[in-house]
Amino acid sequence: MSKPLAIQGGEKSVTADVGNLFSWPIVTKEDEDAVLDVLRRGAMSGLDVTCQFEKEMGQWLDMPYTLGVCNGTAGLLAAMWACGVGAGDEIICPSITYWASCQPALSLGAAVNFADIDPTSLCIDPRDIEHRIGPRTKAIVVVHYCGHPADMDAILLIARKHGIKVIEDVSHAQGSLYKGKMAGTMGDISVMSLMAGKSFPIGEGGLIATREKRLWERCAAFGHYERTGTSTLWGGKTQSLSDPDLTPYSGLSMFGVKHRMNQTCSAMGRVQLRHYPERIAEIQRAMNRFWDLLEGVPGIRAHRPSQTSGCTMGGWYSPRGLYRAEELGGLPCAKYCAAVAAEGFAASPGANFPLHMHAIFHKADLLNMGKPTMVAFGQRDVRQGPGSLPVSEQIREIAFGIPWFKKDDPSRITQYAQAFRKVAEHASELK
Ligand SMILES: *Cc1c(COP(=O)(O)O)cnc(C)c1O
Repeated sequence: MSKPLAIQGGEKSVTADVGNLFSWPIVTKEDEDAVLDVLRRGAMSGLDVTCQFEKEMGQWLDMPYTLGVCNGTAGLLAAMWACGVGAGDEIICPSITYWASCQPALSLGAAVNFADIDPTSLCIDPRDIEHRIGPRTKAIVVVHYCGHPADMDAILLIARKHGIKVIEDVSHAQGSLYKGKMAGTMGDISVMSLMAGKSFPIGEGGLIATREKRLWERCAAFGHYERTGTSTLWGGKTQSLSDPDLTPYSGLSMFGVKHRMNQTCSAMGRVQLRHYPERIAEIQRAMNRFWDLLEGVPGIRAHRPSQTSGCTMGGWYSPRGLYRAEELGGLPCAKYCAAVAAEGFAASPGANFPLHMHAIFHKADLLNMGKPTMVAFGQRDVRQGPGSLPVSEQIREIAFGIPWFKKDDPSRITQYAQAFRKVAEHASELK
């Protein structure tokens, strides 16, 4: 028997105490001991733990060159510069992502040519890339959005054809698989945020990974002064640069920025890594359980690749559902979410807002050039106003937030699924 909706005075679907269902990060005595050891040794600004962390992350990803950085944003800036992005150049990036996927390009004097997203993967739509490539396009930033792997085969094909670098932003997708391959190992270089809210949480931190020594060296030279062969001040391993374009500058950070990771974070990172595969396996069981319970419910779809594709959602960072109003008589996503909230879970419509419409990418004169940085150096204007990227602009109608379960607890997960199901099945009462 169907019950009336909570928003109309009926019983709530979610009555269970949340307990540790959503607790994250998981911090145990092992993390505490590792961090305390750094503190007691006064080794926060050292390199020994960070070098260990880089090595272990490299083994996990099966990537030869890894570099720890102070956060993901800094890593993306360094990776863009490493890929040759400079004043007057362009990068291509999906409009729906966190700003750090692309905004660092502006500080290099480059412009961002935003691409639309695919309505099913919510990742960059490979069909909206090629026509954006111009003579100054240097890189495509691919975001595996909310853990969903982007369509790398199609993207790499386009990039190789045009000789453009692919930067993977893996901040949502540590451990996600694309056709059996780990996110962050397919492009030319990858960057992951490891900040405390991500599915791989170590504090403020980031990791760059690449197979190309040259790109590693350029990232190290960009924002580190003690990793490039001259200073052994901190007792960490130093590496000699082989790139003759960089050697004259070793000993100083080339950009005058400082990207070194705090070792309390790398120490926590080493501990988190040991447990990460097992913890995301549990998240995957829990999230797939939630969506399996909602299979066939009108109006809502799982944001996940098919189970037989060799693709996974990693740690399911900031998970979404896909909304299809036409199956619910046109009920707006915001109204659906408000009714789910009354059932006991604060669902919200949308995801990140479309960056191509933000004033930063239209008007901001960041480098005091007397004109917007987006057009200050380039030969063409790639700014795009409302109406230009229809799927991205519909994000609040096609996607919504769902619970990010960390524990596979069938009885409680069933209550949450019931909240989403009940509202969809009673949608006609919400007109
Ligand atoms: C969090 C995030 C970043 C930035 O990482 P920080 O470590 O917070 O600087 C970059 N890209 C995406 C997609 C993110 O979600």
